[in-house]
Amino acid sequence: MVVTRFAPSPTGYLHIGGLRTALFSYLWAKKNNGMFLLRIEDTDKARNSKEAADAILEAFEWLGLKHDGEITYQSQRDEIYASYIQQLLDEGKAYRCYMSKEELTELRETQMANNERTKYNGKYRDFEGTPPEGLEAVIRIKAPLTGEIIVKDGVKGNVIFQAEDILDDFVIARADGSPTYNFVVAIDDHLMGIKEVIRGDDHLSNTPKQIVVYEALGFDVPSFYHVPMIHNAAGKKLSKRDGATDVMAYKEMGYTPEALLNFLVRLGWSYGDQEIFSMDEMKELFNPKDINKSASIYNTEKLDWLNSHYIKNFSNTKLAELLTDYDLILTSHDKKEILLDALKERAKTLKDLAELIKEILATPTSYDAQAVKKAFKADSIDVLTAFNAKVSASSELHLPSDYHHLMEEVVNEMEIGFGKIGNPLRVALLGKMSGPGLDSVMAILGKNETVLRITNAITANS
Ligand code: GLU
Repeated sequence: MVVTRFAPSPTGYLHIGGLRTALFSYLWAKKNNGMFLLRIEDTDKARNSKEAADAILEAFEWLGLKHDGEITYQSQRDEIYASYIQQLLDEGKAYRCYMSKEELTELRETQMANNERTKYNGKYRDFEGTPPEGLEAVIRIKAPLTGEIIVKDGVKGNVIFQAEDILDDFVIARADGSPTYNFVVAIDDHLMGIKEVIRGDDHLSNTPKQIVVYEALGFDVPSFYHVPMIHNAAGKKLSKRDGATDVMAYKEMGYTPEALLNFLVRLGWSYGDQEIFSMDEMKELFNPKDINKSASIYNTEKLDWLNSHYIKNFSNTKLAELLTDYDLILTSHDKKEILLDALKERAKTLKDLAELIKEILATPTSYDAQAVKKAFKADSIDVLTAFNAKVSASSELHLPSDYHHLMEEVVNEMEIGFGKIGNPLRVALLGKMSGPGLDSVMAILGKNETVLRITNAITANS
């Protein structure tokens, strides 16, 4: 069975790069009817918080990415880690090191002065004497100090590290007994049954150490897929300055989960030149073997394009529900179909859509001076008055076409062009020259509000 995992450290919000590796892991598990597990790597008590862990779960909830089984919290697994530390000590694969902080610093400084790589010198590797007094021991693992460590990576191919360039007997438990990062990751991935690790390539350099741990404990080494970073247009690692990187900020800005996930799946993965992927298609088509070798470039226009695609294609019922998150309650608006049909093609985000709708539903309290100057001609008040009379006198006004007919009548009777009524009417109804089709606007507003707005404009501009 394919079991994958996402293993965030709860030091802040869930960022977009993390979400992308989570999505890749999720898709690969689901494609294979496997399991997608969540592990919260919360051992660093100084930097981790419950709020951050909850924020990550909130983001998953919003996106509809469900993890399987219970969440693993590393902070609750001290006993498990302690038993493996003991095992390695018993087997002579790890040892207590009594080097003091001062001695370690001195060692480092000498190495730096000699232009050598800083590393532990193995002083206590085979120590058998009486431990020095008053010094707390850390536990170090006996790492191979020569030879090659090969990371078999599904994205990058075989990545070969020379042990002597990168390894030393690294610490697996600190003086207070707490285990270190690379040690617990290997144990957890093994115990959780993870055979394929998909994660950011910023973790590639940790992998040799984790392989040392797997091998010391007699665990199978999983396959790795190290995913290249997301870059901005300037080719630098994506940062806050490039826009939001906090996943929940995308919700606030009015992006839909469908668009965000579709956007992310294409950052670093492709399937021919297809751009639009439903969740089912992603699950069917995604394969980590097809992840690109090079960094992907974040492109806001692409995200906007996808978002408007999804907004346009959502049902009006779904849109009305989504818009409640943007302070717009349309669910029982009797003209919501006309309203959303008229506007959903015009918005890049749900937030924009909510703003557009709110603008239309609010009776104008002023008129854009430029628009008035452009739209109101000598005969405009007469044209509006004639149209208003027709609207007031009609009892069957429901659809955009009902209003359109009345506009046509005025145009024919007064022998004027359509602009002569359209322009002043637009300013009267919306206070400005832009906006959706007027017949839809009037159908949305209904007869009474239409008459009120025209009357107001006549009074204000006579
Ligand atoms: N906790 C690590 C992070 O948030 C991920 C570790 C892993 O995927 O192995 O970057």
